Amino acid sequence: MNKTKTLLTAIILSLSSTVALAQTTVIKNVQGYTLEENTLHQFTAIQFTDDKIDKLFTNNETIPEHSDWQIIDGKGATLLPGLIDAHGHVLSYGQSLMQADLVGTTTEKEAVKRTVDYAKQNTSVSWITGRGWNQVQWANKSYPSAKTLDEYFPDTPVWLARIDGHAGWANSKAMALAGITKNTQSPSGGEIIRDSNGQPTGIFIDNAMALIEKNIAALTISQQKAILLKAMNSLASLGLTSVHDAGIDNDNLQAFHELSAENKMPIRINAMLYLPSANWQKTLTKGIFHSEDDMLNFNSVKIQADGALGSRGAAMIDDYSDHSGHKGLLLHDEAALKSYINTAMKAGFQVNTHAIGDNANKIVLDVYQDLIKTTDTKKLRHRVEHAQILRLQDIPRFSELGVIASMQATHATSDKNMAIDRIGNERILGAYAWRKLLNANAIIAAGSDFPVESPNPFFGLHASITRQDKHNSPQGGWFATEKMTRIEALKSFTLDAAYSGHQEQLTGSLLPGKKADFILLRDNYFTIKEAELWQNQVLQTWVNGVEVYRKAVK
Ligand SMILES: [Zn+2]
Repeated sequence: MNKTKTLLTAIILSLSSTVALAQTTVIKNVQGYTLEENTLHQFTAIQFTDDKIDKLFTNNETIPEHSDWQIIDGKGATLLPGLIDAHGHVLSYGQSLMQADLVGTTTEKEAVKRTVDYAKQNTSVSWITGRGWNQVQWANKSYPSAKTLDEYFPDTPVWLARIDGHAGWANSKAMALAGITKNTQSPSGGEIIRDSNGQPTGIFIDNAMALIEKNIAALTISQQKAILLKAMNSLASLGLTSVHDAGIDNDNLQAFHELSAENKMPIRINAMLYLPSANWQKTLTKGIFHSEDDMLNFNSVKIQADGALGSRGAAMIDDYSDHSGHKGLLLHDEAALKSYINTAMKAGFQVNTHAIGDNANKIVLDVYQDLIKTTDTKKLRHRVEHAQILRLQDIPRFSELGVIASMQATHATSDKNMAIDRIGNERILGAYAWRKLLNANAIIAAGSDFPVESPNPFFGLHASITRQDKHNSPQGGWFATEKMTRIEALKSFTLDAAYSGHQEQLTGSLLPGKKADFILLRDNYFTIKEAELWQNQVLQTWVNGVEVYRKAVK
C-alpha cells in the first residue's frame, strides 16, 4: 500500500466515523397526495435522503434498486403531507395531560368529583390544578363557585381553568393565599365575579386570573422540558409534524432552545413570544432564530387584544345579546396595543394578535393598517389569531393588508349553541366565516387552539368541511354556506399554515427539495365518508425524514 493510498484510507475512515452517511429511504405502495397551489397531485411512492425529499413516483415508474437504500412497504396506506397546527399551546397541553381533566363534564358536581378523584391519585402536589370545565355545557349554565370545592378541599388550594383558559375557578383556600377579600378590586382587563353581597365567588376572568396564579410555583426549565416532550410526542401521534406555539414566555422559549440543541424535538415548533412577558424587549432585540434543521423557529410574537366569547370577554362593538350593557374586555388600551405591535414589527417579528370580538378585530386591523405602512412590514405576514367575529366590512381587509386569518374550525362546532345567544342572529353572519374570508382571498391558517380544543387535526378537518360536531350535528351543517372543500381544508392545515409560519418553501407539501414531513393514515382522506373524517387514525408520522411515531399494532 503506498503512502497516498494509506492517507486516503485514513481520511475516509475518519470521515465515515464522524459523519453519518446519507441514508436514502423509499416508502412504496402508498396512496399519496400533495398540493401544489390548489392542485392535487397523486403518487404511489416517495423517496427521500435524510431530511429532504428526492422524488415522488407515480404508478408506472419503477423504483430503482440500491442495496443500501431502505425500502418500506406502505401497504396501501394513505400518505399526506404532515399536518400543521398554526395555533396551539404546547406547555398547557402537556400540563393538561398531567392535571385534572374536566373536559366534557355536564355538571358542576361532576367537575368537583373528577377533581377529587384526581387529587386521590396525585397526593404529592401542593396545588390541585385542572382544566377544561365549561359552564355553558352544564344544565344550569351558571358559573361554579368556591363553595362546592371547599367541601372536599378545605385546606388545599385548588385552581381549575375554564376550557378556553380565559377564566379560573378557585376554592377559598386559594383565594385566602392570594389575599382576596370583598375589597379586592378587579384589575383592568379582568373581572372578579361576585355574589349579590359583593363577595368573590371563586371565578376570576382574564387578567384577574393572575391574582391566584402568582401563588402557584413556576415550573423550572427542566420540568418544562419534560412536559414539552410529552406534549410534542402526543401531538406527533395525532399527525401533527409542526405546531405554532401561540404565546410563550422566555423560560418556555429557553426550554425549546435546549431541546432543539439536544436534538430532541420530535416535531417542528414555531414559537411566538407572548407580549408583554418578562424581558420581552430584550428577547426581541436578539432577533429572529432558526435552528439549523429548522425544528425550532422563533420569528413571531403573540399579543392578546381581548378575551373569549364563552366568558363574555370578547370585545364587541355593541352590547352582548344576552347581557345588555356589557361589551366584553379589551386587554390593553389602544395606545399600549399599538406600542407592543410597533416594537415587534420594528424588530422584524411577525405579529400574531388574538382578536375574537368584532371590536377587537376592527381595532387590530386598524392598528395593522397603520403600522404595516409605517414599518413597511407587509412581508412579515402578520396574523389575526381566531378572527372569530368580524363585521362584514372587515372581511376584505385581510387580503388587502396581507394579514392572515389564523382560525380554528372546532371552535365553531363547539361554540355553535352558545354563539347565537351571545351575539344574536345578525352578527353571527360574520362569525367563524371561513368561506366569506376565502371568497375575499384571505389566507386561512388552520389550528385547534389546543388544549382549548382537542389537538387532533382530523377533528378540525372534519369541522371545516362539514360545519358539524362529531355527532354530525346539526344536520346539513351549522351555517353550511361557510363549509370548505376537502382540498381547501387540507390546504389550511398544510401549505397555508406553513405559509403563515414563513415555511412554505420547506414544509406544507411534498415536493423534491422540501422536508420529508409526512404522515401515513388508515383511511383515505379524500374518499372516506364526510361523517367519518374525524375518525381517521395515524399509522406513522415522519418529521425531517425521521419516523417519530408509529401506531402500535394490536
Ligand atoms: Zn390560543
